[in-house]
Amino acid sequence: MNLAPLDIAGRIPRLRAKFDNAGIEALLITRLPNVRYLTGFTGSAAMLLVTGTDALLVTDGRYREQSKEQLASSGAPARIEIGLNQSLQRKALSDFVSDVTQLGLEAHGVTWAQERDFSSGWFVDAVLHATTDLVEDQREVKDQGEVDRIRAACAIADASLAEVLPLLRERPSEREFALRLEFAMRERGAEAMSFEPIVASGPNGAKPHARPSDRPIEPGELVVIDFGCIVEGYCSDMTRTVSVGEPSPERRHMWETVFEAQEAGRCKVAPGVELAAVDNAAREVIVAAGWGDAFAHGTGHGVGLEIHEAPRVAATASGTLAVGHVVTVEPGVYIPGVGGVRIEDTLVVTPEGFVTLTEFPKDLCA
Ligand code: ZN
Ligand code: ZN
Repeated sequence: MNLAPLDIAGRIPRLRAKFDNAGIEALLITRLPNVRYLTGFTGSAAMLLVTGTDALLVTDGRYREQSKEQLASSGAPARIEIGLNQSLQRKALSDFVSDVTQLGLEAHGVTWAQERDFSSGWFVDAVLHATTDLVEDQREVKDQGEVDRIRAACAIADASLAEVLPLLRERPSEREFALRLEFAMRERGAEAMSFEPIVASGPNGAKPHARPSDRPIEPGELVVIDFGCIVEGYCSDMTRTVSVGEPSPERRHMWETVFEAQEAGRCKVAPGVELAAVDNAAREVIVAAGWGDAFAHGTGHGVGLEIHEAPRVAATASGTLAVGHVVTVEPGVYIPGVGGVRIEDTLVVTPEGFVTLTEFPKDLCA
């Protein structure tokens, strides 16, 4: 795999440029995917404090070597302080912003208990501001290195499904099939799953997020297969719905409707297009078929360091698509007692429109 390097070093300076608008002089980053995005540090515990001129990553003794290596390799402009216990970490952070009066916290990344600690003990001299999505917004537009990693994860998912799909004819249980799929992805270099694969056959398919069961997959049933893997931190996400052998006319009609809806949603994807318009294009097709109520989720979501991230592709979403956004388009129809159909691709928005990163063919009959 030839992956372009990630441009991590430029991210903290770009974040700083937003401080004035947010009314803050410094930001404490507590959400780990954001810490990773800004520094390249992948450990399970850390806080990053970014001021107008400096940045400090505080982690614990387990990560002394790892943090040094990862920040040296990413070039992130941040110093490291190892705090062997919480009070030393607290001291490092509060000393670092002793002259800051307006300190931002990540509203979605701070627990109630933390907020109490921060305001009553850690940062008593500063006014604390709840900020929203400062780093998440920045993460929406992917650089070439990020797109390359998502593309690589999508390619692993494509190849893995191609390998294991013929097994469906051997009437595996949902769980067995999911396990084979996971094994195939890990064998091809996936470092982890984006989420536990969903393999939902027959009536289980009516639950959009069903967990694989011991139920054997029977001929003629629809099977929703929704899965993805991670390459160097970046996720892939794809759903295919197949039938082993010929499905009933009703099931075929469901599948063809969702296929058409997904195509309509995909075709809408281009820079400058409203997120809600993509949702609407897909939803219209399903509503016209009389299944509007059976499509009870948004049409898609951003994909990156997290499997679900900004932007949301939904009727209620504000904002527009931009070059470098990586989003899914995944309409579905779910009918209790009958089953479900969902078809999902991960797309990257380009100046010309979009490129599909999940290339596995969409065929109803496996
Ligand atoms: Zn999915
Ligand atoms: Zn998805």
